[in-house]
Amino acid sequence: MSYQRSSWLCSAVSRKYGPTCLRYYSQNTRTTPRAKAQSKIAHIDAQRQFSPALVDSFHRRHDYLRISLTEKCNLRCFYCMPSEGVELSPADHILTDDEVIRLAGLFVRSGVTKIRLTGGEPTVRKGLDGIIRRLNELRPLGLQSIGMTTNGIALHRRLPLYVENGLTHLNLSLDTLDPFKFEIMTRRPGHDAVLRSLSAALHSQGLRSVKLNVVVVKGLNDSEVLDFVKLTVDKNISVRFIEFMPFTGNKWDKAKMVPSSQLLDIVSREYPSITRAPDELNDTARSWKIPGHAGSLGFISSMSDHFCSSCNRLRLTADGQIKVCLFDAKEVSLRDEMRRGASDRELLSVIGRAVQGKQEKHAGMEDIDVITNRPMILIGGIQPRKSRVRSLSRSYLLDGTLLLPHIHRRWSSSSSQSSLHLTHIGSDGRPCMVDVGSKDVTKRSATASGRIYIPRSAYDLVTESSNVDFTNKTIQKARSKGDVMTVAQLAAIMGCKRTSDLIPLCHPLQISNVSVTLTPERGVCPASQPGDEGALEYSIKCTATVACEGKTGVEMEALTAVSIGLLTVWDMLKAVAGKEMKIGEIIVAHKTGGKSGDFTRGP
Ligand code: SAM
Repeated sequence: MSYQRSSWLCSAVSRKYGPTCLRYYSQNTRTTPRAKAQSKIAHIDAQRQFSPALVDSFHRRHDYLRISLTEKCNLRCFYCMPSEGVELSPADHILTDDEVIRLAGLFVRSGVTKIRLTGGEPTVRKGLDGIIRRLNELRPLGLQSIGMTTNGIALHRRLPLYVENGLTHLNLSLDTLDPFKFEIMTRRPGHDAVLRSLSAALHSQGLRSVKLNVVVVKGLNDSEVLDFVKLTVDKNISVRFIEFMPFTGNKWDKAKMVPSSQLLDIVSREYPSITRAPDELNDTARSWKIPGHAGSLGFISSMSDHFCSSCNRLRLTADGQIKVCLFDAKEVSLRDEMRRGASDRELLSVIGRAVQGKQEKHAGMEDIDVITNRPMILIGGIQPRKSRVRSLSRSYLLDGTLLLPHIHRRWSSSSSQSSLHLTHIGSDGRPCMVDVGSKDVTKRSATASGRIYIPRSAYDLVTESSNVDFTNKTIQKARSKGDVMTVAQLAAIMGCKRTSDLIPLCHPLQISNVSVTLTPERGVCPASQPGDEGALEYSIKCTATVACEGKTGVEMEALTAVSIGLLTVWDMLKAVAGKEMKIGEIIVAHKTGGKSGDFTRGP
């Protein structure tokens, strides 16, 4: 290890963890062949140019790229995937091998030194061995490690080939040592296959590190923590306990999350001599070592104590979106840029804008906005940040063309998701319809609601209260148009069927059902004082549920039905209610089906 680098690291280790750790660190790094190799790498690294495109506004250098190779998985882990499953992108939306390698090469030439393959489940990607081999060819450009995170179901036989082709680091996900619990957590059999893969990995000569990822869920596998610790007695493995993180559709609950500090307490009680070990540079895990154990422990506290300040990661989803943070729903499609013929310079400029948009840190546990993010299975990997739509800034291609922002929010909802990708803006910045030709036809429904506030006189009229003077001429005029509720209901249904004529880029849909209800309601005005007699407010709530079997959702149809229904109430009542009425609170209350899954709006 070069003097300069080792002295810098030693003082950093000493500053951060104290002299005990420094001793440990020094003993383990001074003269080993690995340290020599690292020194060489550091030297090459120092001579390489690091592209400013990979440095964010908080001076974090992003030299670690996680590439999701597929959205498919051979397990159904409940914390990773909604129970109803996820709708996979059409095959032609997934990056091809050549596209993966092109982007990987661009990132490596720009400064990335570590690549990790993930998914979905990376081992289900056809031609994975070839991808690893081609990534390995990027070493002369500065790539230092090729890692993979896998569930190990289909690994043990193929592992030697992957290692031969260049795989250097393996993270195996295994949350329980109990085969029955395994089936509960993953909704699939295969525990013994994972154990075989673990054994193959531990016997592999070529792998530089083997880690075990354990997502700890209270009441499910937290009782196994000490059993996992025992694995480190004679196995050179790092067992990493990961805090259960919220993602769209994974039914996260704070009560199910066991903070790393609690786990460390449990382990410390059993092993009081446990000591803090130096972390790998930019590692997400805080490392600990039990004297005498061959392996080590890591705690990934993404929720209780994030590690954003040292975050050096970028993610590429299987469908070619770049994500700058796991919990940030913003995505930029590098695939679309590549397929429209963007040059490497243009791609790097798009990447640079995304990196510049990276926030300083993700929200606290209470505030993490799962609502806008993808389920984990469609992202891959571990590590977080709050989803917030950035103010949309204009961006320009290198040739000066104005682009609308490439900010995509594909997932949104409190219990599930909805699409906020600016789908009606093409990569040339112009309005376009979404091509749904390759999407599957699925059952979809949406319920929207809204309200019209009306004066008491109008309320009495629609409820046919005995207060109404039906001989009054204005009342008679209002009634001459017909029954307010029935007319509004029919208008809502007719309006719903015309949605694609009214909203320019909406697709015409084959609606299978529309049901509309209008309910007069009387409530206390929120602004009223106690004892204030006249403080009641009167309204009619319109609710529309629309169903179809199609390729796009029916939220627009439900919203249109409600809007037209309420406007019709206005028209019907204006003779008695005048212009004081107010229409508002038009929302999507619920939706089912489609790629973004189910959504129910909170209170
Ligand atoms: N299929 C591969 C696997 O199982 O390792 C790679 C993809 S998986 C999404 C990557 C990692 O994310 C796994 O280690 C998994 O345990 C972790 N993970 C998934 N959902 C999580 C959640 N809700 N909280 C914490 N970690 C999660």
